[in-house]
Amino acid sequence: MTDLTALTLAEALDGMEKKLFSSAELTNAFLDAIDKANPKLNAFVVVTADRARSQAKASDAKRAAGKAGPLEGAPLGIKDLFCTEGVRTTACSGILGEFTPTYESTVTANLFRDGALMLGKLNMDEFAMGSSNETSHFGPVVSPWRRGNDDAKLTPGGSSGGSAAAVSADLCLGATATDTGGSIRQPAAFTGTVGIKPTYGRCSRWGIVAFASSLDQAGPIAKSVEDAAMLLQSMAGHDPKDSTSLPNALPDFRAATKRSIKGMKIGVPEEYRVDGMPAEIEALWQQGIQWAKDAGAEIVPISLKHTKYALPTYYIVAPAEASSNLARYDGMRYGARVAGKDLTGTYEQTRASGFGREVQRRILIGTYVLSAGYYDAYYLRAQKVRQRIAQDFRDAFTTVDAILTPATPSASFALGEKSADPVAMYLNDIFTVTANLAGLPAIALPAATDAQGLPLGLQVIGKALDEESVFAVSAALEKAANFRAKPSKWWM
Ligand code: GLN
Repeated sequence: MTDLTALTLAEALDGMEKKLFSSAELTNAFLDAIDKANPKLNAFVVVTADRARSQAKASDAKRAAGKAGPLEGAPLGIKDLFCTEGVRTTACSGILGEFTPTYESTVTANLFRDGALMLGKLNMDEFAMGSSNETSHFGPVVSPWRRGNDDAKLTPGGSSGGSAAAVSADLCLGATATDTGGSIRQPAAFTGTVGIKPTYGRCSRWGIVAFASSLDQAGPIAKSVEDAAMLLQSMAGHDPKDSTSLPNALPDFRAATKRSIKGMKIGVPEEYRVDGMPAEIEALWQQGIQWAKDAGAEIVPISLKHTKYALPTYYIVAPAEASSNLARYDGMRYGARVAGKDLTGTYEQTRASGFGREVQRRILIGTYVLSAGYYDAYYLRAQKVRQRIAQDFRDAFTTVDAILTPATPSASFALGEKSADPVAMYLNDIFTVTANLAGLPAIALPAATDAQGLPLGLQVIGKALDEESVFAVSAALEKAANFRAKPSKWWM
């Protein structure tokens, strides 16, 4: 039999429907693959093997009874930011200790309602703060990709590094992820996978550990644009438990991936050309533009004037919200506690030992920009600039249907290469944070490999609530790119 783990989600569902194999067989194949790979890749921080096997059995019975849901029997990985009932959830932070939620996040509940099953919880940067998965309390994820024959350990990106590595290494059919400033798209671009951050409010944030609430959005990392559309269909939808959840009906995302892009207008923003950007990224972008033209789209040069302020704005807004959201980790209610000599001492000891360095840095920055005397100069000004950035997009979308940019300013880099320099790390997000600040849907898809054989990604940004155009354009680009590279399974 063919290697079941190499199938796409669409292929696997089709194979189960045709009775070529069962969910139990598929699930066992993934659990075996995880056993072999995880000691080297560190993508999963919890493996729920028994639960996955019994869910697979139940799924096979449901399918046999003609009651299969749209994702029936599909084994997925779940980012450790999603609360999963009865399964340890720590956001990969030491401060959550062995926290085991008594409830399920809406996004994972939606996936399970549709028949998907969980293989385990995926590694990530602590509280989703990072771009390399190096801030995780459980250690970094190692990318399945290598530079040529060099065995230097590379990053799968972050913060959804476990999700991207697991999908790319065939350890699950697809994964949940979250994106506050790029954490779905940057790891997808680094690992040759597809990741979409939908419009802010499409996916419920209920039960997702909060980082920066006005920016956080869930989305899938998948093996193809079609798979991403199918996963998002289940993950998204209105939820009264999240006050920012959108009531709008969900369109048929999978159908949108089949749409022609003939006659669509695609904007190319001049501001997404940054100093020191490798020639390969520029070449990739030009190639993407050509593919869009070949598919019948019209390319329109546009200007998003305030782009250069996006990164500084993000690094004020996100830490400000984080400093407030993370105030709840005081050692009293959940997770780890380190006793001090009095109550204040306990707070201090708990937070000093429970939070890693990057999280502490964000809390300090956030508290600073929100403090009296600095609030107007930093936080309020950042809010105003954020409005300008959103307005730039609204103006552009009066003339174009979608926007095409590179996903990241470079390919994946080695572990340790940027971890000592926070600003160099923050530059990873330069093309992705704008969509979060403006609340827009954006996808990253693999388009080429660089000279060393590492994946490079393109990004398609759409209007608010117009994931359909994002799917249509990215599917057309995916077809043209015909990206077939896979990491060699050196861990086997
Ligand atoms: N890399 C960005 C950060 O560190 C984005 C993280 C994310 O999207 N969760 O904040």
